[in-house]
Amino acid sequence: MKSKPANKIQDLKFFGEFGGVNPSISDSSTYTFLSANSMSETFEGNTEGCYLYSRNSSPSNLYLEEACAAMEGTEAANVFSSGMGAITSCILQLCKSGDHVISSRTVYGGTYAFLKNFTPQIGIETDFVDITNLESVEKLVMSNTKIIYCEVSSNPLLEIADIKRISKIAKKNNIKLIVDNTFTPLSITPAKYGADIVIHSLTKFINGTSDTIAGVVCSSKDFIHSLRDVNDGAFMLMGATMDSLRAASVLKNMRTLHIRMKKHSENAMFLANSFENDGIKTVYPGLKSHPSHKIFTEMINDEYGYGGMVTIDVGQLKKANKLMEIMQERNIGYLAVSLGFYKTLFCAPGSSTSSEISDDEQNKMGLSEGLIRFSVGLDQDINRTYNEIKKCLKQLKLI
Ligand code: PLP
Repeated sequence: MKSKPANKIQDLKFFGEFGGVNPSISDSSTYTFLSANSMSETFEGNTEGCYLYSRNSSPSNLYLEEACAAMEGTEAANVFSSGMGAITSCILQLCKSGDHVISSRTVYGGTYAFLKNFTPQIGIETDFVDITNLESVEKLVMSNTKIIYCEVSSNPLLEIADIKRISKIAKKNNIKLIVDNTFTPLSITPAKYGADIVIHSLTKFINGTSDTIAGVVCSSKDFIHSLRDVNDGAFMLMGATMDSLRAASVLKNMRTLHIRMKKHSENAMFLANSFENDGIKTVYPGLKSHPSHKIFTEMINDEYGYGGMVTIDVGQLKKANKLMEIMQERNIGYLAVSLGFYKTLFCAPGSSTSSEISDDEQNKMGLSEGLIRFSVGLDQDINRTYNEIKKCLKQLKLI
């Protein structure tokens, strides 16, 4: 039976202190104790339900964490002040000097830079691999490999990771599989297919209003407790804590995620089909021409569709830039990074969100300078939008 992640969010019942329909916001950085003894026990992590200090945990953050864990079907979750805070904490929690990571070569530029440039300084080495080639993934496993890291649908190439089969490799070798599900919330539930840790940049679709930076890690209770440990927890000690006010606001937005994801996916499918029919090089997991269309379809919670991200390739950066400028002039969307907004956002990742990846490596992975990444918006009339885009494409003689 297909799981219903949106039902699980909707079924949660949180009331405010005075019977409000929204939970009260905990506007405190520190908490009192009736006895000194319970304070020290809380420090040792032995008093479930007691709060100590909001860098560790706060009631508002716990509500959002419960909703995220319900969505991803994991035992627990921990929210962070950014997606990068979530990613870096997980990697540093699991790897020590001398350890090894296998990462998909197409991941968000910040994640790539962290693994390529930052973690080697503390003795953690990473091999980057074509994650769609399972044989190559398996060949890279070494006795010190601690993590396989990938994105369900990669940024920006929209390559699809076959989570079920990758998790088999991870489990066989006692390695943790970390999956970034930022591009495909609700559509895919990676934990169902064996991912040990699921990460989101909440900044994107889940919050959906482009007004904050935020992140979450969804995993087992044990792993979440380890992140929060006062002695060696990467979350607790590096301090990428989400503010309670923000947690309350992300939770409210999350309640409409299922409606928004359906619309993002419906609009993206329409644009992808239209681009492809007009002879433009288009990548979208919902298209039959996508090399991993079948794998995505095997994993999908189908009512949410194939996600809101589409790419087209217009060959040259100059053309891509011009096209984006005129699309913005025509109010089709905004020339901006990030994703998951009501308005369509577009950028050329080779010179923006993936600029941390060298030109040579971009070439090897097939990231062309003329690639434009669309985060397709919630447009009421996507046909009208496409007709406007078509005028821009014609103006530049791209069709
Ligand atoms: N993961 C993916 C797939 C992203 O696209 C991003 C940001 O663009 C991140 C993680 C990082 O998240 P944040 O910007 O919230 O730190």
